Amino acid sequence: MGEIEKEREMIRAAAAKAAQKVVQPLAAAIDATGEFPWELVDAFGKQGLLSILLPEEYGGTDGNITSFSSVIEEIAKVSGSSSLLILAHGVGTLPIWWRGNPSQKETYFTQISEKNHLTTLALTEAGAGPDLASLTTTAKKEGKDYVLNGRKSFITHGSIAHLYSVFAVTDPALGAKGISAFVVEDGTPGLRFGKREEKIGMRGSVTTDVIFENCRIPQENRLGEEGEGWMIAGHTLHRARPAVGALAVGIAQGALDYALRYANERIQFKKPISSFQAIQFMIADMATQIEAARSLVYDTAAQIDAGVEGLEKLSAITKCFASEVAMRVTTDAVQILGGYGYMKDYPVERMMRDAKVTQIYGKPNQAERLFIVQQLLKG
Ligand SMILES: Cc1cc2nc3c(=O)[nH]c(=O)nc-3n(C[C@H](O)[C@H](O)[C@H](O)COP(=O)(O)OP(=O)(O)OC[C@H]3O[C@@H](n4cnc5c(N)ncnc54)[C@H](O)[C@@H]3O)c2cc1C
Repeated sequence: MGEIEKEREMIRAAAAKAAQKVVQPLAAAIDATGEFPWELVDAFGKQGLLSILLPEEYGGTDGNITSFSSVIEEIAKVSGSSSLLILAHGVGTLPIWWRGNPSQKETYFTQISEKNHLTTLALTEAGAGPDLASLTTTAKKEGKDYVLNGRKSFITHGSIAHLYSVFAVTDPALGAKGISAFVVEDGTPGLRFGKREEKIGMRGSVTTDVIFENCRIPQENRLGEEGEGWMIAGHTLHRARPAVGALAVGIAQGALDYALRYANERIQFKKPISSFQAIQFMIADMATQIEAARSLVYDTAAQIDAGVEGLEKLSAITKCFASEVAMRVTTDAVQILGGYGYMKDYPVERMMRDAKVTQIYGKPNQAERLFIVQQLLKG
């Protein structure tokens, strides 16, 4: 194993340890109460798991998607919403990592690495999910400031993040080319939040609308040049896709592990149910799908890390496939547990509820498929 592989393995092992020691004991309670697990923010921060994507001088891997995905997968094996905590935060750092200038990186990455400040991506609006060209949040230039007005929907870490990577229209006449990216800090006058959304899964994750009412920010908070928002959003979503796939793979693996143990212990007709071929084939199919999804996730991540261009179709395939696998595998895990699988006393129903959002988050899978087929038809 080379030095780079050794370092990656250390990061994965640290995440696996945190998953077992710190997250697992809290996983059921986080889901039951829906309370945001602040103790995990401290624990993840201490382990350096909130800085994974930051440059090396801030304790990170400089945007390494392979390491990031491995952390996401390990935590997701025991708790989807705790894994989403790291995922949404990491995705929020990507626009700053990619297009932030040295002074912005110094300001924001120091907050993250030293104070465990959370970030998030504020992109989606009620009328603009995957259809980014329809964004209506505006950022109007006034002297040396921008004044933001509009409302973002379904924002993970809304109201609890310190840094919001926000996409807003600076020039409506230019369509997609008139979108720019900004960082808005918590506490900025005019930044408000909607009610906390009640979700079927990822219940420990806070989701709210993020509202801008004459929210004035200095022009120094703009990421990159005016009009680069579309490109920054695309780049961010592209790099995030393998990590969303890793979240799906982790949840699926957790469900398979539990179902396998259960099938060995559950006796029906005087035999463990794992001796029935119907159950055996389900388990074999679950494992096969997970391995295929995992291979896609880490192959795509490795290629992105190697700087290979033109991988957008592959990253869409990865996210789409892995999330469909997670939904199928977790549903099968519930089936293997029978009536017990349907009960909240067992974790597989939570995993099934958590898995669902991986088909929606980022871009919904129908929109991913549309993109995949458009790329194929283009040749
Ligand atoms: C728990 C959770 C957390 C989230 N966190 C964040 C966050 O932190 N930041 C953020 O910016 N966003 C976040 N989102 C928003 C998420 O990215 C969007 O919900 C997602 O992009 C889908 O957009 P939509 O909800 O508007 O669905 P819609 O676009 O309205 O989709 C509805 C249906 O139409 C289908 N559809 C849409 N377009 C097409 C098309 N062109 N062809 C075929 N079918 C299509 C979809 O697949 C879906 O089945 C979060 C969402 C959830 C549920």
